[in-house]
Amino acid sequence: MADFDVVVIGGGPGGYVAAIRAAQLGLRTACVEGWTTPSGQLALGGTCLNVGCIPSKALLESSEHFEQAQHGLGDHGISVGSVKLDLQKLLARKDGIVSTLTGGIQGLFKKNKVEWLKGFGRLEKGASGDAAPVWQVSIDGPDGHKTVSATHVILATGSRPRPIDAAPIDGKNIVDNAGALAFDKVPKTLGVIGAGVIGLELGSVWRRLGSQVTLLEAMPEFLALADAQVAAEAHKQFTAQGLDIRLGATVTATKVGKSGVEVTFKDSDGEHTATFDKLIVAVGRVPYTDGSGVREIGVACNERGFIVTDARGHTNLPNVWAVGDCTPGPMLAHKASEEGVMVAECIAGQHGHCDHAVIPWVIYTHPEIAWVGQTEAQLKAAGIEYRAGSFPFAANGRARSMNATGGFVKMLACAKTDRLLGVHIVGPQASELISEAVVAMAFGAASEDLARIVHAHPSLSESMHEAALAVDKRTLHL
Ligand code: FAD
Ligand code: NAD
Repeated sequence: MADFDVVVIGGGPGGYVAAIRAAQLGLRTACVEGWTTPSGQLALGGTCLNVGCIPSKALLESSEHFEQAQHGLGDHGISVGSVKLDLQKLLARKDGIVSTLTGGIQGLFKKNKVEWLKGFGRLEKGASGDAAPVWQVSIDGPDGHKTVSATHVILATGSRPRPIDAAPIDGKNIVDNAGALAFDKVPKTLGVIGAGVIGLELGSVWRRLGSQVTLLEAMPEFLALADAQVAAEAHKQFTAQGLDIRLGATVTATKVGKSGVEVTFKDSDGEHTATFDKLIVAVGRVPYTDGSGVREIGVACNERGFIVTDARGHTNLPNVWAVGDCTPGPMLAHKASEEGVMVAECIAGQHGHCDHAVIPWVIYTHPEIAWVGQTEAQLKAAGIEYRAGSFPFAANGRARSMNATGGFVKMLACAKTDRLLGVHIVGPQASELISEAVVAMAFGAASEDLARIVHAHPSLSESMHEAALAVDKRTLHL
């Protein structure tokens, strides 16, 4: 008998959630994870908890308070005098949140009897061959080298920042997301290569704290992933806040000198140089499978290095599964976790399922941006006839009371059946509002269903209600 029914390689939101669910289902489960923090501690939680979702949201929250205290309270008749920033305290708060949550996963492992195998794991073929495989996972960690056997292995090794030759990371002047979450003083000038999700979130953090931020984006279009109308509104608001967003800008070289990082880039106006105190590189992420044995053992990967699976997360090798950022699809923590649950349930003989058509996206800037389903451009490209309904937050009483009147909710519904096909929000608390759309779409709702549901007054959710009414051209407050 194998040492474990399931060994999960990787303890990020894909891996640790898969391990907990497998253990809940009665499977003898271990999770291999060797993430080491800058202070030398081993930690669970992966990119998300250590250098991703959680620390970035902690900084977004703190920096937004700083911004509001300086510029947002006057309209409410509140004067606070001079506002000071204690950056070390702000960073320590973020670090405290991270260590509480990563420690919390250790607690969850204990509660659910998941064994944490500390170190980096490598999948190897077991003795019994392909017919009835028992996989071996060798682990190199602080306690040396050991090998365990497993009936099932879940690969959840995540992703890492995509490097570019023109701007090699040195961890000091030119940094990736990890460095950008820990500047020990606010850079006067900050360059960001890539105006994607990380560039906008972390660019916003440091702009609010006092940096002059320039984003250099290679694509001529802003936020190409989002609905074009949402992207245009967000671009307008970010620019008004002071983010200098240069589109169609290709960085050709960087040079670190005494006065900072000199960046050479080309755009439609020709070649330019700009010097920044710090430079963040945020040009996307790539799957991380180095050292995990994936390639050596013959797990099928696509041309971009993602592990290929079927709809249930099963790879080409028997009893070898994969979830999260190392597999194709959006690189989002909730996608990774839901795939983890699905795979654990499939291993336990249940009908695990993850509905990839209704995975919400959220960008935690101010205003927030959130969407689920298809954009207008995608519907047009697919030749699907649709009806669109929008409602601006400027016409919503709660948004007015919050001084958060920018942005709108837009709903897209099938012209024939009225089934919701996409919901797009730019505005206050879009991250929370989008859940109603996700639930509606997961249940196959029509815009008429949302239009007939009572929404609390006064609440931002009334904008969802009105956008649904707008699909049928019968808004009540516009
Ligand atoms: P990861 O979290 O990358 O975890 C993989 C783990 O596997 C790592 O801990 C790694 O050490 C471990 N590992 C790798 N190889 C081995 C091995 N051989 N042996 C043992 N362990 C191994 N997503 C959101 O949904 N919302 C957000 O707000 C959000 N914000 C983000 C902000 C930033 C700055 C970044 C960088 C990302 C953000 N993301 C966000 C994306 C999110 O972090 C990822 O989608 C998510 O972490 C993927 O989970 P995962 O478990 O697949 O991989
Ligand atoms: P991204 O794909 O969101 O954005 C990268 C941007 O860089 C794109 O706009 C791309 O056109 C641009 N780019 C690519 N190469 C370039 C180059 N050489 N020069 C200039 N621009 C270039 O990637 P990211 O911001 O690095 O984030 C990685 C992933 O992490 C995201 O796709 C997302 O899945 C995840 N993430 C999610 C959240 C969230 O859910 N709120 C937050 C942060 C990160």
